[in-house]
Amino acid sequence: MLDYTKKEKYERSALRVNPAKTCQPVGAMYAALGVHECMPHSHGSQGCCAFHRMFLTRHFKDPAMASSSSFTEGASVFGGGSNLKTAAKNIFDIYNPKIIAVHTTCLSETIGDDLNALIQGIDIPEGKYMVHTNTPSYKGSHITGFSNMVASFIKYLSESSGKTNGKVAIMPGFINPGDMRELKRIAATMSAKYTMLPDTSGVFDSPMTGTFNMYPSGGTTVEEIIELGDSSLTLAFGKFASEAPAEALEKKCGVPYKMLPLPIGIARTDEYIMALQSFVKVEVPYSLDEERGQLVDILIDIHPYTYNKKVAIFGDPDTVLGITEFVLEMGMIPKYVVTGTPGESFTDAAEELFGKFGMEGCIAKASGDLYELHQWIKEEGVDLLIGGTHGKHIARAEDIPFVRAGFPIIDRYIHSYLPLVGYKGGMRLAELITNALMDRLDRDSLEEDFEMVM
Ligand code: SF4
Repeated sequence: MLDYTKKEKYERSALRVNPAKTCQPVGAMYAALGVHECMPHSHGSQGCCAFHRMFLTRHFKDPAMASSSSFTEGASVFGGGSNLKTAAKNIFDIYNPKIIAVHTTCLSETIGDDLNALIQGIDIPEGKYMVHTNTPSYKGSHITGFSNMVASFIKYLSESSGKTNGKVAIMPGFINPGDMRELKRIAATMSAKYTMLPDTSGVFDSPMTGTFNMYPSGGTTVEEIIELGDSSLTLAFGKFASEAPAEALEKKCGVPYKMLPLPIGIARTDEYIMALQSFVKVEVPYSLDEERGQLVDILIDIHPYTYNKKVAIFGDPDTVLGITEFVLEMGMIPKYVVTGTPGESFTDAAEELFGKFGMEGCIAKASGDLYELHQWIKEEGVDLLIGGTHGKHIARAEDIPFVRAGFPIIDRYIHSYLPLVGYKGGMRLAELITNALMDRLDRDSLEEDFEMVM
């Protein structure tokens, strides 16, 4: 039996148990599916590709199309050049995408395939494109892979004509299609002209039409990615997912960028709207003011239930930081804040938030895992757990209310259609949190009544 009061019993320097992340190509595949008529291509074994497609499909409940270089022993020894060449020909002939977006896997990275040189040697049909990014999974996380893929689209395709087009480039980060729709709705309400890259709305939340469509109507078009080079400004959400592509666009085409935190909660949504306002120079419409006021009203109403409640949050870094700030706005205590993605800037940002709200004794960790989070909770419990599906085992074992938010959520439906960002997303998250806490109160009071009767 472990003595959980002795930290050294479970502290590990190398091993991760249930890491709060998945592998790089999952993110690269998701980013590529946010480009219209794009076929994501996994340069490695079929098993990797099947796993990544399954991971996305289970979260979004929609098929994730992707092809594979289908490495066998030969390719593993001699390199995957000829596999990629054959794959490109077959994919353009059979599936007819506008663009193939190749990402690597651990195996091709270990062999050392030079994708740049390999793609240059491929006969790409007129008017079609092929891009690549490196996604070695023994580094970073799916967020790194997402960021790398978006940056590669820009490096390969974006061009500056020398004239700006008055548009804002929106880099949403690794969020659900419902969130992307909400970011676009707010931009449109502010009368901003924009291009979002990537944009999985209309792809992973496309309607049932009765006809299978390999390339749904959504996604950023190749032409739009090329024109991103003429944008006046980039608004990039979340340092981990969007800073690298924003930097790439500035470096290649001279488009200045503004980093914004993922707009979860009031202050962060205010920041997004103020950034849009200083760009378009119009008054904030009353409809947004009204939504903000409604959210403030909701937070006041639920305050008796949320105030001083301790919460543990885990998941993707930009999302976790957003949820952390929002629970602080709700008067809660973010006791444990964990991401599996490496990067000390995560802990710095979380600690800055703890300081801003006068919190003491809260712990933030990057490169973390659910095993360690569980042990912390055993040492000092929390009133609520927030994160993806894999947290349910902790919630069950410790009998804690659990709110599913973030990625992946494989045991619930509809979540990816509905936003967490913006004031509307804040209302939804506040509802989920409050209902989870009130369900627990209901259960406790029923148990008390039962005991009294007995
Ligand atoms: S081998 Fe690497 S790329 Fe493939 S599934 Fe495993 S971690 Fe991901």
